[in-house]
Amino acid sequence: MNNIRNFCIIAHIDHGKSTLADRFLELTKTVDKRHMRAQYLDQLELERERGITIKMAPVRMNYAVNGVNYELNLIDTPGHSDFGYEVSRALAAVEGGILLVDATQGIQAQTLANFRAAKNSGLTVIGAINKIDLFKNPGDRETLNHLREEVAELIGVNGEEILFVSGKTGEGTEELLQSVIQKVRPPRESLKNLNRALIFDSFYDDHKGVIASVRVFDGEMDATKNVYLAAPDTTSKIKEVGFFKPQVQAAPKIKAGEIGYIATGIKDTSLIKIGDTAIVASHHPDKIKSFILPGYKEPQPVVFVSFYPEENEDYELLKKSLEKLKLNDSALAIEPDQNEVLGRGYKVGFLGRLHFEITAERLKREFKVGTVSTFPSVIYKVKTRKGWQTIVKPEELPPEYEEIWEPMTNITILVPPEYLNNVYPLQARFRFTKITTHTFQDQTEIKADMPLAELVSDFDDQLKSATAGFASFSYELADYVKADIVKVDILVAGDTVPGLSRFFPTNTVGKEARRMVEKLKETLPHQQFAQPIQARANNKFIAREDIPAMRKDVTGYLYGGDRSRKMKLWKKQKKGKKKLQSRAQVRISPAIFKELIKK
Ligand code: GDP
Ligand code: MG
Repeated sequence: MNNIRNFCIIAHIDHGKSTLADRFLELTKTVDKRHMRAQYLDQLELERERGITIKMAPVRMNYAVNGVNYELNLIDTPGHSDFGYEVSRALAAVEGGILLVDATQGIQAQTLANFRAAKNSGLTVIGAINKIDLFKNPGDRETLNHLREEVAELIGVNGEEILFVSGKTGEGTEELLQSVIQKVRPPRESLKNLNRALIFDSFYDDHKGVIASVRVFDGEMDATKNVYLAAPDTTSKIKEVGFFKPQVQAAPKIKAGEIGYIATGIKDTSLIKIGDTAIVASHHPDKIKSFILPGYKEPQPVVFVSFYPEENEDYELLKKSLEKLKLNDSALAIEPDQNEVLGRGYKVGFLGRLHFEITAERLKREFKVGTVSTFPSVIYKVKTRKGWQTIVKPEELPPEYEEIWEPMTNITILVPPEYLNNVYPLQARFRFTKITTHTFQDQTEIKADMPLAELVSDFDDQLKSATAGFASFSYELADYVKADIVKVDILVAGDTVPGLSRFFPTNTVGKEARRMVEKLKETLPHQQFAQPIQARANNKFIAREDIPAMRKDVTGYLYGGDRSRKMKLWKKQKKGKKKLQSRAQVRISPAIFKELIKK
């Protein structure tokens, strides 16, 4: 076990984690040169296209220093706040972390958040400044040295301990890998007579069933044995064990201190729980309970979106696909749902807006299910005369209520001082309050309270565009507060359209309602009858647009002036329209609905 090192790379998004991992894969000859491609560990098609890491990716590497062979287990992690749960699970499986800081960006919000998480998990943190290939002018050295001091101060070490590297050219990466071997402690001695592992991730294989990614803490996982899973209280015959190269590679055993996988042979995906303990032994059942590892805090989904299949007959496919996705993304919460226009679907809970967008994309690409989704919503608490109730859809708001409470976040924004004035105007639009600022090294750190509902709208994009991409933020969930918001329903031809109701802040509700009805007017096709589009809040109509009827000239074929014939035909047309009008609601096709709920 002394020759094993388990570590991860943590950083703000885009600081170069996956590219650095590429250099390690080359240095250790883990991936053949011919097969090497940029950000090799980003294996999902979506990750490659978007250039971001969504899933943590474990890989085992072998490397010799001074004639001693080491087994290095690396876990590459995502950087975005929404995937903090992925990071936390990776942290629990390793002993050390490389904190990578992009020299062109400096310390950013997720640099701080991820560093703190690593410290709290008791990891040894090694600091490294990346992308130094972009700093080759004579004056640049000073900039780099300055950043080095900042990173050293953050970690609490001397400046000399922070390494300069370039994931692109490879400069300094070998020293960095050697310093991992030197500074990260080997896994601890394991307990005797116990074979147990922590499940930190899982995925599905059509032939081998559920595959659990594990960190073995004690003893060994042996492919010939049975494995007991604590959460579902189930025993299963192991089909295979092995490790990641990063593709799965079977081995006879994986041992204490190592990271690898167990092919459980279990087909029922609901039996696998992330954070569960896998035990190989024939211990007495009562005793087994005392061997259960602490696992993880269950992630709480905070953003809810309903998904409906684009084609109704795809409902079963949507269901199966979500279940498989959940296995690979344990933070997803799914439950069946219904909508009058869109039919049967699923209400899905996410950790944030990016998490939702990524999931919709994965459904489309990996499972070939097209979906229509509703507006993202958070969980509101509503006070009525009968007590409290929680809702996640504006439609669920009871007609009589006293107060609506909404979840808040504490956000931290890091911004260079020259962009500070561009951040303040966002305050009204995104409702942040209790703002405090202070200087953090060369930047301004803004702390504020912000409703989660605003955070999951387009805050990310707006902050980026206001600050030319220089501001970054991280957030934590906070308590509920009483919200000054009202529900707006949309009525087309007199009927409320399910799925289009939304909450807006009281002071902007008029403007937002007008915007919505205008948008609808642009989107809805003309019918043979006039269609009023109305927005209603607090039982009052607050905005209206009309789509004029598409007038078919029913009298066109009558030439001459037979007025009474014409009158008769017009009358008939009018009657027909009345009949049509009563079916107006069903005329909002899923395609149009989809158009409408796009922002
Ligand atoms: P991650 O989000 O932290 O995993 O970052 P990636 O590894 O995906 O890299 C983000 C971007 O930075 C990509 O466009 C990389 O090509 C680029 N990049 C990464 N490392 C370096 C480096 O050392 N030098 C330069 N010039 N670019 C780099
Ligand atoms: Mg990455």
